[in-house]
Amino acid sequence: MRLEGKVALITGGARGQGAAEARLFAREGARVVIADVLDPDGMAVAAEINELGGDATFVHLDVSSQDDWQQAIDATVAAYGKLDVLVNNAAIWRGGHVLETTGEQWDTVLDINAKGVFLGTKLAIPEMRKAGGGSIVNISSTAGLVGSRTSTAYSASKGAVRLFTKSTAVQYGRENIRANSIHPGPIDTPMGDQVWPDAGSREEAIERTVLKRIGTPEDIANGALFLASDDSSFMTGAELVIDGGLTSQ
Ligand code: NAD
Repeated sequence: MRLEGKVALITGGARGQGAAEARLFAREGARVVIADVLDPDGMAVAAEINELGGDATFVHLDVSSQDDWQQAIDATVAAYGKLDVLVNNAAIWRGGHVLETTGEQWDTVLDINAKGVFLGTKLAIPEMRKAGGGSIVNISSTAGLVGSRTSTAYSASKGAVRLFTKSTAVQYGRENIRANSIHPGPIDTPMGDQVWPDAGSREEAIERTVLKRIGTPEDIANGALFLASDDSSFMTGAELVIDGGLTSQ
């Protein structure tokens, strides 16, 4: 098992990609903390993992709150004794061109998507130091690699995650704390339904990929597993693009 003995905290683990990562990590031997604002959904994913013989706990976490983060990290260490892996997956999507985006919308998106990743990283690193190292996996987007036609603040937040990941890698590599980003293309999740709300827009998203399909949450979870595990022990500051070839054209 590729995560035997590891303790992983996954934000936004109540549904979508985060839930797929929680299930896969647990199957690979990790003890998993699912952290989300959706309490009943998160508890249900943890219960499902436990029923299948895994080991998972749910904690309430709004990633934009430093107090919540401290409580989530403390709860992780109280339950499992340490923290080895942090997956900063939680995010929200908001559409809008530059002229349509209000300052309030900008702040909301950046607070959750970018500041949330910063706060989690800041509070996880001291625990990873105690554990002798760690792996931080930040979920960015293809919208963090190229300009977005539809979602200004979201794209800016994902670009921030991309470079914040590299700063983390550069600053803490000496301590065996690695940080890498994942850049998903169109993925079939509740957020995907929000971005592509009808058959036409979904078909358009599929058509823009090279592989001519929408990705599954498991496509991303497989990449997150690789970056979380020691299989990627010589990788840090890197970008793992899982987008069906979208940005290769
Ligand atoms: P999703 O909306 O299905 O899941 C996101 C999860 O994050 C939800 O459980 C939600 O409750 C949680 N969340 C939102 N705000 C939170 C907060 N303040 N504190 C804690 N949890 C919060 O979306 P998804 O598609 O599974 O997205 C996972 C990641 O992948 C996100 O970072 C997203 O930006 C990224 N991504 C998604 C796609 C896609 O097509 N779905 C594409 C590129 C990148």
